[in-house]
Amino acid sequence: MKNNKILFNVPLSPHKEIFKINKIKSQNHYSGSGNAFFTKKCTDWLKKNIKCKEALLVHSCTAALEMCAILLNIKPGDEIIMPSYTFVSTANAFVLRGGKPVFIDVDCKTLNIDPKNIEKSITKNTKAIVVVHYAGISCDMDIVMKIAKKHKLFIVEDAAQSIMGKFKEKQLGSIGDLATLSFHETKNVHCGEGGALLINNKKFIQRAKIIRDKGTNRDDFNNNITKKYSWVDIGSSYCLSEINASFLLEQLKLVNYITRKRVKIWNTYHKYFEKLEIEKKILRPFIPKYAKNIAHMYWIIVDKKYRNKLISYLRMRNINSLFHYIPLHNSPFSKKICKKKISLKVTESISKSIIRMPLHLGLKNRDIILIASFVKKFFKENYKKNI
Ligand SMILES: *Cc1c(COP(=O)(O)O)cnc(C)c1O
Repeated sequence: MKNNKILFNVPLSPHKEIFKINKIKSQNHYSGSGNAFFTKKCTDWLKKNIKCKEALLVHSCTAALEMCAILLNIKPGDEIIMPSYTFVSTANAFVLRGGKPVFIDVDCKTLNIDPKNIEKSITKNTKAIVVVHYAGISCDMDIVMKIAKKHKLFIVEDAAQSIMGKFKEKQLGSIGDLATLSFHETKNVHCGEGGALLINNKKFIQRAKIIRDKGTNRDDFNNNITKKYSWVDIGSSYCLSEINASFLLEQLKLVNYITRKRVKIWNTYHKYFEKLEIEKKILRPFIPKYAKNIAHMYWIIVDKKYRNKLISYLRMRNINSLFHYIPLHNSPFSKKICKKKISLKVTESISKSIIRMPLHLGLKNRDIILIASFVKKFFKENYKKNI
């Protein structure tokens, strides 16, 4: 009789050659809920390698940040301290719950949150501090954790760019109460779109599973803890599909190879740009002693009057370099919700003078030499005044 069973739904199987999904392993199960095979494998990998207490796969780092805001019970008026020099999701996730981002300045060498600016921004409404490990380079977590402990604040690590990065001996994502990873195609390890919520403060684990699954206790149901599942809290649909998880697992297995290759490229840039830094034409990235470089990004800082010119100069030579971020405190939406106008000198200056160089595994030594030689040539042709 088993074979004649009329199932409610039978997911359509994707073409094996395209998705490389092992149908036997996935057992025709393509959603990420329950004990889905690839989701569980990725979760186990993250727990083992990052040494966090729990890891939940989600469909983006943005989703993981939104879950953080729900888990921390962010309410209208609550303040969350964070850098202005970051991606919008870091702030938007908290604003969705009515929270108020309190933007602070970054350190001019690491472009990470400057711990000196944290304590003076704490008020009676402060709920949490979100740190962003920019370019995969760790913030000074000893100072950040000390401040958090003293003022009883929660720490969220936005580790979107920093898989396998370290602060001293600790993996990034294993330090804060909560942490978030991104597996967007622009990150070191990816599955198109994807992310993870990492939990180190045990009290958040159970509720996080409910929030990820539309506010239901379906996870308990799947594990035979309850006979039926129901709506028990607020939540949303944050799971990652098994299709993405199967893709992600292959990437996670390659992370050491990917990181090694990227670091090699990063070091080549660093070598070829050294002379320009000595000549004070550019600044190169700085890696503090406590941080392990995973080479998410290679950036240089130039005088702001040259920045756009140099990007166009490279583009005309078929080299695609970019800049980012428009500081969040100066964004149109932030101006609408934060009444007080603030000025963050380092953030504003970096945002006008940074250039991000191409960085991917297809890059050859000769490509980097060519890029560096064009940058040198640009300065020879344009350089007038020291920066
Ligand atoms: C990429 C990124 C995000 C967003 O990641 P998604 O997975 O695309 O949602 C958030 N924060 C930072 C710092 C990022 O670099």
